[in-house]
Amino acid sequence: SRACVKGFLKRNLFVLFTIAAVALGVMLGFALRPHNLTLREIKYFAFPGELLMRMLQMLVLPLIISSLVTGISSLDSRASGKMGVRAVIYYMVTTLIAVFIGIVIVTIIRPGKGSRDSPMAKSGNIEPVQAADAFLDLIRNMFPPNLVEACFKQVRPSIPHLTFEHIFLEETVPVSGSSGGVNALGLVVFSMCFGLVIGNMKQQGQALRDFFDCLNEAIMRLVSIIIWYAPVGIMFLIAGKIVEMKDLAEVGGQLGMYTVSVIVGLLIHGLFVLPLLYFLVTRRNPYSFIGGLLQALITALGTSSSSATLPITFRCLEENNRVDKRVTRFVLPVGATINMDGTALYEAVAAIFIAQVNDMDLNFGQILTISITATAASIGAAGIPQAGLVTMVIVLTSVGLPTEDITLIIAVDWFLDRLRTTTNVLGDSLGAGIVEHLSRGELHDQVAEVHNSVIEE
Ligand code: ASP
Repeated sequence: SRACVKGFLKRNLFVLFTIAAVALGVMLGFALRPHNLTLREIKYFAFPGELLMRMLQMLVLPLIISSLVTGISSLDSRASGKMGVRAVIYYMVTTLIAVFIGIVIVTIIRPGKGSRDSPMAKSGNIEPVQAADAFLDLIRNMFPPNLVEACFKQVRPSIPHLTFEHIFLEETVPVSGSSGGVNALGLVVFSMCFGLVIGNMKQQGQALRDFFDCLNEAIMRLVSIIIWYAPVGIMFLIAGKIVEMKDLAEVGGQLGMYTVSVIVGLLIHGLFVLPLLYFLVTRRNPYSFIGGLLQALITALGTSSSSATLPITFRCLEENNRVDKRVTRFVLPVGATINMDGTALYEAVAAIFIAQVNDMDLNFGQILTISITATAASIGAAGIPQAGLVTMVIVLTSVGLPTEDITLIIAVDWFLDRLRTTTNVLGDSLGAGIVEHLSRGELHDQVAEVHNSVIEE
């Protein structure tokens, strides 16, 4: 049994480190709170965490591009088409289920009932956004006019006044150093098309296929170096946030119940619904699959960014859960960009909460509108910290709720952001497992084809 314990330790060393890092971070954070550090001191203290964020974000761009291009060019277009359709159906179905759960929970708990007990929001002059404009932005982002610009900028003309800076100026200091948006959606669309094209270029495309394949391999090797630093970074990210957060006692009443509603919804979705779906499709144990993902989930919790977590998600799925690389390379970057179950659930709960606070009764049509716009808002949200808070505007304006009421929920958003990001990453990962299972026919054919062509040569 000694050997057994040793084997277990060896296999799970990273996970144990990471869990220990979370625990240490929480303890360290609470130990430092009484010292009332200044914001500057907190920033210095959280610096090792900021570095982790930066390292992960550095890898995301080349990772998304190289994995999608190699993933898609290595499949024939029939296989990638089928796989793509399955992934999109999974994303849609799970996102809608998440929204539904959110709506049911917030209707049952009614966190916003009674008159407002939160201070009136300051009324900024935020121009209302038309839902249609927001949809157009989503589509605009799919077709970036300039690829270089897409690497650091998203279009958001419909929300001219409400930027990160606008919301966060007085409220929080983003210790994690989140930068604005990469237009991941645009890069995903471009890389997919590019991969399809060079996949069909036969011999002529070989040099490019080799290039992206090699790039992808090199990035994954960098990931395996950075992963050693991850527990340290996560510890400081969490400790820094705990030192910085406002007093918990302030979060009472309506806001507290709102927080509970989001948490209950996320737990139901992440721990029961998604695993059940995985089980129904694959007949395998979802919880041992989730066990292999622990490190990615904890990284999501620490960074509150599903795109920064992407490198770790790749590793967990490929190394621990042995999901076929042709599947992960294809579906993970897409999932991290558009599939955000946690965010969709949160958007629905938050919108209905704000309606309750304003004593506004929503009819069925309005609830339907919220479901649709919450889904769109989750697709449009970038995988960076608190992106969902910004896309809330779309949901609120679609049913005529005051956008400045977003300030009501800002105080707890950093916390809910971490939880919803974890749910987002979980959804993407279980999705990769499900798509792999459903695509085993094509994957097998493809192996046979490659094998035959090797024999022919
Ligand atoms: N932070 C989330 C993510 O990266 C997005 C959101 O703010 O909801 O998945």
